[in-house]
Amino acid sequence: RKRLLMHVGPVDIYDEVLYAGLKHNVGFSSEEFVQAFQFCLKETRKLFRVDNSYQPFIIPGSGTSAMESVTSFLGKDNKVLVASNGVFGDRWVNIFKRYPLKVDYLGSEVGDYVSVDKIEEKVRKEKYDLVTLTHVETSTGVRQPIEETVKRIRDYVDLIVVDGVSSVGAEEVRAKDWGVDIYLTASQKAIGAPPGLGILVASEKAMESIKGDSVAGYYLDLRNWLPVMRNMEDGKGSYFATPPVHTIFMLAQAFKLIQEEGLDNRIKRHEKVAKVIRAGIESMGLRLVAKRPESYSNTVTGVILNKVRAEEVLKEIVNEGVELAPGVHPALQGRYVRIGHMGWVTPNDAVVTISAVERTLRKLGEDINVGSGVRSAQAFILDG
Ligand code: PMP
Repeated sequence: RKRLLMHVGPVDIYDEVLYAGLKHNVGFSSEEFVQAFQFCLKETRKLFRVDNSYQPFIIPGSGTSAMESVTSFLGKDNKVLVASNGVFGDRWVNIFKRYPLKVDYLGSEVGDYVSVDKIEEKVRKEKYDLVTLTHVETSTGVRQPIEETVKRIRDYVDLIVVDGVSSVGAEEVRAKDWGVDIYLTASQKAIGAPPGLGILVASEKAMESIKGDSVAGYYLDLRNWLPVMRNMEDGKGSYFATPPVHTIFMLAQAFKLIQEEGLDNRIKRHEKVAKVIRAGIESMGLRLVAKRPESYSNTVTGVILNKVRAEEVLKEIVNEGVELAPGVHPALQGRYVRIGHMGWVTPNDAVVTISAVERTLRKLGEDINVGSGVRSAQAFILDG
């Protein structure tokens, strides 16, 4: 029954984070809860590296509710460009299609990010009210160079949104320095808390645009949540809709541990684990979904299988003590698995994962170099 969860969220969560939610008598206006919420809002700013000019929001739901709440910044017939590097980039189109908006789309090849030249070309030709980018595309493990992309388009578009669901807490994220208006994430990924919360920060400019009429629905209209965030940050209880009280306590505990570790150390740890995983996979003789090394992410590695089916690997590897995530990109259906390495993962977890992948693939008859994955992973930890 003991197994290591190397998934894309929820991830393996520390007991002390889970236990923080075990409270039997806290209402949404109790002092203890207000303090936890206040702390989470302040820590959210640090996580995205923004100052008081940005407004943090912690709302119920998940990454998708944070994404859909972006409709709060859009008016009827606004024009949006979705630059998508995979399944989660495409999700923006599915969301925006439900609202009276004009949506343009720019995709990428599977395993690549969206060409920065092409995005620039597009926004120079047409005026967009909002552009969406995905920092780490979880379906492929590909990282978009956000700083460079934003630099190239900043002057031509009104608002820039980045989906950092699989990056915030594990990759370098500098919302303010990079000029990103809305940066969002979820509780269950690199922050290492349970699912249940969408988390975002919005720039002054974005908050100006929220004042007029928007196309947002009721629950995810951030104007409804704004007074709650402001009051909570001031240490005052406030209600719009019942917050997931216990999940917020768990988030606060995760933030405490992030504070102890230090954000820079956390990012470095993720980078190291990702490198150990890749060293192991590549020396086994397997290919990665991500095509370009500069786009390898700190959080997700897509592994292409040669002969065996992904379903078989996922089923069997659990018997070896590790659980991985299925591939979800339709173009590679059944032909790849994803290793999630975020939250509280260690280089040790990476070696265990590689060893389980080796044993599983050998059992299933995949043509790999057994032992060489573990050797390379070890070598990487020892010598870098
Ligand atoms: N964006 C990205 C990059 C994601 O990885 C995910 C979830 N895997 C989402 C959005 C959607 O988030 P959620 O499943 O938490 O709603």
